Parts: sequence; C-alpha cells; structure tokens
Amino acid sequence: MKNGSYNPFEVAQSQFDNVAELLDLDNGVKSLLREPMREYQFVIPVRMDDGSIKVFKGFRVQHNDALGPAKGGNRFHPLETIDTVRALAMWMTWKCSVVDIPLGGGKGGVICDPHNLSQREQEQICRGWVRQLSKNVGPWSDVPAPDVMVSGQHMLWMLDEFETIHGGHFPGFITGKPVGMGGSLGRTEATGYGVIYVLREALKVLGIDIKKTTASIQGFGNVAQHAIQLYTQLGGKVTAISCWDQEDNTAYTYRKKTGIVLNELKAITDKFGGIDKQRACDLGYEKLPGEAWLEEEVDILIPAALENQINRGNVKKIGSSVKVISEGANGPTTPEADSVLKERNIFVLPDFLANAGGVTCSYFEQVQCNTNYFWEKEEVLDKLDTKMTSAFAAVNEVARRKKVYMRDAAYMIAINRVAEAVQLRGWA
Ligand code: NAD
Repeated sequence: MKNGSYNPFEVAQSQFDNVAELLDLDNGVKSLLREPMREYQFVIPVRMDDGSIKVFKGFRVQHNDALGPAKGGNRFHPLETIDTVRALAMWMTWKCSVVDIPLGGGKGGVICDPHNLSQREQEQICRGWVRQLSKNVGPWSDVPAPDVMVSGQHMLWMLDEFETIHGGHFPGFITGKPVGMGGSLGRTEATGYGVIYVLREALKVLGIDIKKTTASIQGFGNVAQHAIQLYTQLGGKVTAISCWDQEDNTAYTYRKKTGIVLNELKAITDKFGGIDKQRACDLGYEKLPGEAWLEEEVDILIPAALENQINRGNVKKIGSSVKVISEGANGPTTPEADSVLKERNIFVLPDFLANAGGVTCSYFEQVQCNTNYFWEKEEVLDKLDTKMTSAFAAVNEVARRKKVYMRDAAYMIAINRVAEAVQLRGWA
C-alpha cells in the first residue's frame, strides 16, 4: 500500500534501473520493461444487501507477457492503489522469469474490505471483476490467482463467470482453486517447501551439513509451517519462531533450545498463525520479544511473515553465527539492511527466488487444468523440487562467475530472459 512518501512502483522501477545498468540493456528494451504493457482500471457496481448500489474500483495490470500469459494474484484491500498493483505485477514478471516458467507478470485487485461484505456481495464483486475484463484475461492471456484477503471460493466465482460468458469449461483461466475443483495437490506446501529446496542447495554449495544446522524463523503461517516441516524432515533444528499476538497487538518469539516441535505448536495456533502464549509457556517455550528471532545464534534465518522486517534499525543485531538467509516473505529486507548482509558475506536467497514455489505450483495447476489430467502430490512436489533446484543453480552460477551478490544475480537472470524475449519478438 502507498505509505507516506513510499511508492512501491518507484521502488520497483529503481531496482530495475540498477540491474538494467549492470546488464547494459538496450535503451528501447529498458523503456519497455520499466512500464506495464497494459493496465485496466474500472468500476464494479454492486447491489448491496440493503438494496443500495455501491461502486467498487477494480484493477488489473499486465506488466509484461513476452514469456507467456501474465500471471499473478488479485488482492481485496481497502488501501489498494494502482502503484502497488503496478509494482507487484513487475515483481511477478521477474519471479516467473527467474524460475524459468513460461509466464509473464500480472496483478490485480479491488478496493474493498471483505470483512464488511456479505458472501453475496463478495460474489457480486468477483463476477463484476470478470465481466469488466472477460476479453482481456483468460488461459492464454492472463491467469489470475488469490492474494491478500482472496480465497479459493472467490476464484471459483470468477471462474464460473468467465465460463458462463465464454460458454465452455476453461479451468486453466484461474489458479488457487480448491482441490477437486481444478486445484493442484501440493499447492499448500509449495511456497514453504520451495524456501527449503533452495536452502538445501545453498548449504550444499557452502559445504554445510543440513543435519548439523539450526534455524530461527519469523512467522508461523502457511509458508513458515511448511518450511519448518521440510527443514526438520531433512534433519535441521528450529530453535525459535516469532509470530503476531492478536490479543496483545505485538509479536513474540517462542524459543526452545532443544528444538521446537511443529505439531505441538500447530495444535495451539489460531487460523491467523498466532500462538496461544500461555499454552506455549506450559509446553516449556521461553517467550521473548518479537524481534528476538533475529538475534538467535543460529546458522539460518527465515523471514516468513511480512515485508521490511530486516531493516536499518535491527540488521546489526543479527546473530554472529548466521550464514544463510532464505527469504520466504516478500520484501523482508530493506535495501539498507541488504548492504549490511552483503558486507557480512551472508548467503542471501532472495525472496523472488526463494518463495517462487507458490507460483511454480500455480503454473503446474494451469498445466494440469489445460490438459485435464491431474498429478499425484508426490509428482507435483518432485517437479517443484526440480524447478527450484535448477533455478538456484542458475542464479548461483551467475553469482560466482560474475562475482555478484545473489539478489543481483537473480535479477540479472530474470531481467535478461524477459529482455531477450521482447527482442526476439521484435517488440524492442
Ligand atoms: P500467513 O498469513 O499464513 O502467516 C503470516 C504469519 O506471520 C503469522 O504467523 C503471523 O502471526 C506472523 N506475523 C505477522 N506479523 C508479524 C510480526 N510483526 N512479527 C512476527 N510474526 C508476524 O501468511 P503466509 O501465507 O505464510 O505468507 C507469509 C509471507 O510469505 C508474506 O510476505 C507473503 O506475501 C509471502 N508469500 C506467501 C506465499 C504463499 O503461497 N502463501 C507465496 C509467496 C510469498
């Protein structure tokens, strides 16, 4: 969301400009890639339950589709802005590109707060969103997905409207559908597992045995829980996790030196990923301040909660033993903090590589829908592992060969692939 003078689209553009310079990109290509190719802004009139008409504002931005149909989530949020959507669409282009899936970048949203809307009113917003865009989105042009405050149910209403308008079944139009209604097995695990697939590869490169490592994690939601599950399966030990406490309106870190037990903590966690603090203490966890997760003397940090969590104010507090950071959240590290990590020679797995498991699995969902043949969970996760492992290898190879930071190497690969595609297509 736009926050004071912080404009996410300007940030996304300046990140792009820096890498474009490193790559010595052609000026035409540069001008094309720093802007969205298409954007739609429209209104959605909805008859509310009390009989009145309310008009909602909707967006869809297709940043670039040179590599394939635009792909990206739709958010329902009262503070949504076009600049946020533009930035997120651009970041989706780089995320799809870095994992080498044949998709471009898109993002959309509606300015609304689902908490204050009935199910029927939400359904009308979803159907209205598709009616306004039915000619501009679709399995071969732009494939939406759920994002903030948007669920599988919303996706199904959107799909149903699209199929009604176009007369047929097009389950590949949208992803994030419930399993059994065109959704893919493995999607729930995909992002968290992806964070660990790339971490496992990084540790191999560094010559560190994962079984001898410890980790501290921020967040205890979908991404964090699945990351913990796979990491502990591979032999690692998580000694601390941090999460938000709704009651006290603050975050706490829960620490157990012998290693947290995922299932016992899951049993006392609410649906927002918040832990019951009293029961955690009863189970022998130490309750520490929210930021303590970052000061743990561990080998690995996994921020998997929110953006801007490792920043100028706290980066110096990172434990001296930390060797690797795998970014599960989007944008957890500010640019100032990133420079400090670079100086400290911490091996950083950047967000748009580390958390690309989700979009990769959405691509698998699309492939399964388009062929009307659904894979077993094991097959989905195997294919995910292969994709994430080769994406890591490509980024690591550029980082070593060009002696650049992992985040810069990931951007260089992602932007270069899209630049080549626009040139081959003759667009610039
Ligand atoms: P979630 O809502 O399931 O969980 C969020 C967790 O963060 C909760 O445990 C919450 O208590 C905790 N949290 C919130 N504020 C906190 C704070 N200040 N300090 C400590 N903990 C805090 O969310 P999720 O789906 O796990 O997503 C986490 C991050 O990963 C987000 O940045 C999201 O954009 C990103 N991401 C998610 C996916 C996905 O597939 N779910 C894909 C790519 C990126």
